[in-house]
Amino acid sequence: MAAAALISVGSTASAQPARYVLQARHAVPRNCFAAPLPRERGVDTVTVTAPVTGLVRATLAGDGDWDLAVFDVETGKVVAASAGLRSNEIADGFVAEGQELLIQGCRYGGQARQVRATVDFLPVDPADTTEPVQVVRVNTPTRADKNRLLELGLDITEHATQTTVEVILHGEDDAARLRQARFTWEVQIPDLAARIATNQAADERYQERHTRSALPSGRTSYRRLADYEYEMKELGRRFPHLVRPFVLSERTVEGRDITAIEIALNPGNIHDGKPVFLNMGVHHAREWPSAEHVMEWAYDLVYGYGSDPRTTRLVAETRNIIVPVVNPDGFTISREAVPIGDFSTFDYEMKRKNCQATDSPSQYQGGVCADNPAGRLRGTDLNRNYAGFWGGPGASPIWSSDIYRGSAPFSEPETRAIRDLISTRSVTNLISNHTYGNLVLRPPGVMSVRPPVEEELYEALGARLASHNGYANIPSWGLYDTTGSTEDWSFWNTGGLGFTFEIGPDQFHPPFESGVVNEYLGLGDAAGAGQGGNREAYFAMLEATADSSYHSVITGQAPRDAVLTVSKTFQTPTSPVLNPDGTVGEPLLVTDELRVSHRVSGGQFAFHVNPSTRPYVAGRYGREPQAPPQRPIPLPNPDGQPAENTLANPLEGDYEAIPFTIAGLPEADNGFATIHIEWSNPETDWDLYVVDASGTVVGRSASYGDTDEDAVLVDPVPGEYLAIVVNYDQVDGAPFDDWSGGEVTFSGPEPPLVGVREAWMVTCQRRDGSIAAVHQVIVDRGQTVDLGNACDASRRMAVTEI
Ligand SMILES: [Zn+2]
Repeated sequence: MAAAALISVGSTASAQPARYVLQARHAVPRNCFAAPLPRERGVDTVTVTAPVTGLVRATLAGDGDWDLAVFDVETGKVVAASAGLRSNEIADGFVAEGQELLIQGCRYGGQARQVRATVDFLPVDPADTTEPVQVVRVNTPTRADKNRLLELGLDITEHATQTTVEVILHGEDDAARLRQARFTWEVQIPDLAARIATNQAADERYQERHTRSALPSGRTSYRRLADYEYEMKELGRRFPHLVRPFVLSERTVEGRDITAIEIALNPGNIHDGKPVFLNMGVHHAREWPSAEHVMEWAYDLVYGYGSDPRTTRLVAETRNIIVPVVNPDGFTISREAVPIGDFSTFDYEMKRKNCQATDSPSQYQGGVCADNPAGRLRGTDLNRNYAGFWGGPGASPIWSSDIYRGSAPFSEPETRAIRDLISTRSVTNLISNHTYGNLVLRPPGVMSVRPPVEEELYEALGARLASHNGYANIPSWGLYDTTGSTEDWSFWNTGGLGFTFEIGPDQFHPPFESGVVNEYLGLGDAAGAGQGGNREAYFAMLEATADSSYHSVITGQAPRDAVLTVSKTFQTPTSPVLNPDGTVGEPLLVTDELRVSHRVSGGQFAFHVNPSTRPYVAGRYGREPQAPPQRPIPLPNPDGQPAENTLANPLEGDYEAIPFTIAGLPEADNGFATIHIEWSNPETDWDLYVVDASGTVVGRSASYGDTDEDAVLVDPVPGEYLAIVVNYDQVDGAPFDDWSGGEVTFSGPEPPLVGVREAWMVTCQRRDGSIAAVHQVIVDRGQTVDLGNACDASRRMAVTEI
């Protein structure tokens, strides 16, 4: 075994990185980061001493597939690792001055006997603050309050109610900003670092007690980036008939590959015409469970194929693309931050965004992402960077905001990579996983866009998924406004049905057992306990992928190896662009090209595609009023005073219940019902819940610091209801401040908006590359259009329509 050749030495932080060439004559597929390996077949190593306390960055570049790990020589513990599908590796970790490190290169596969390595060290500034980071619940009684809160540039979570939003305060400056804007809040987690330490201890106990979990992989702890990369690669090696690992079309800002796997019969035959379910995690770095769930889903499909009849059938009928970590740069910073105690320095564990620095002020543009002077503030929010309504409310034009939208639609390589994938494949179904909030969200992200024509089908599919994970099934704007999110681009432009899952009730990465095992399988404290959890929600989405009533099909005959392609090029406007100075600019026009091919196996074909008409131009859901809205109903306060009730489920405590009836046709047609109560003292806190005849809570309003509550029901079902009024808090020592009364008011539905229809251009290309026929095909969701002889030259430019 040849020793690693040292090319030059970087001895200080400011010097060039040290360069080496690692060599191995044989490839051995194995885990490079589990432990230091003897210098044997397929392994080459270098030993270095850390010259500073801070960050070590080791890289590989070259052909073939080499992996990389950095170990602490004394303990043998892994400090940093990278195990992508190629030899493009970046491993970051934290080290102490004088620490002895083993740099280990492993030749996993491919023909390259050698690979170039670099090792660099960067000092990390010590913490200059020890202010605790808090999670607080900010009161936002109106939509205007929510929008005002979003504009403060604070770290907003995806957990909100109709009247509150949870926000992370990274110190006194953030609290001062809230105070100046006259918001009130309640502290939910007084010291997030302490909570994370508690979670870590819980994770360690769980790992000690369980050698295997009930998850398909058996994992008992959160994966690191190299685990994901290695496991995807191993699935491809172990199940080549079922799994194709691949890298997305663009590298991340820092140059990492974004790794994906495709699970299907004959997985390399990507143009087999089947519908695709794309399941993604970690657009946001700190949302670790979102990647875990997606990875477990991959194991479920691979292990279930051939042993479980349902999985076998569904895998045969569909293609599954799985991207556990869309944002590997951010994820590895968040995931590696804890053990080093870096939390107080730059709060990297709570990093949300990617690593883009070009929009930062010049003093913050240098340095690698994990050692940037702007800390976690660097970067773009990838789930505000898609073109769908980009630049509007619910996203920030300020570089340091946690919801920074980026300099332009698709300015980030990570979102461009997902766009390429979706634009070139029949992604008929999509889930983008996030934490937290126990939500199944569908477009639109802002109320003013209005629901799509297919709102009822979309809502019903969401309800099917939510019946398994127990989450609330609501349009995304019901949480708070967002623009530039994944499905607000993918759905409106491709017609593929997409949802955002907000996994779990209250933390970005809770203890592994609750956030991953219980939420995925529907166990223990999960909202979907006993209903199958996210595992069954994903299966329900895969059932919908296999069900052509949720997409469109083009059928016909074509000769063997002819290639059919559906394509469409169009422009879509963004939102009017909100500028940092508060002015509003013109919308931008974004050009998209969708181009999906099907290589025909000969004879009859069935090409599963999305509908030809973009939902963006197809009109909007609405109803023509069939009757005037109902007249207002007074809500009198009953006699007596209910006791204070602060229970998590207020229906288990004391309350007042006032019955009312929502009428229906023929006498009334209600698009919206608003249930309202009021009282006199803003220090008093009454809360309002609306319950239907089955006992389900269908509306709520529970703010405080004001003197009224409004719960809104959209398209309320006619029937008997109860307004539940809860005495949450009375001012001590003051006379009882009873609510003085209320009413239910009604307004009519908004009428539908009629749009236009669009065609796919369908071409048939012969084996020699020449175009045999061109068709314009209009096909709606749930329809099948038969082209007959699709490659018959006499049918050039035929318009096929149902
Ligand atoms: Zn998220």
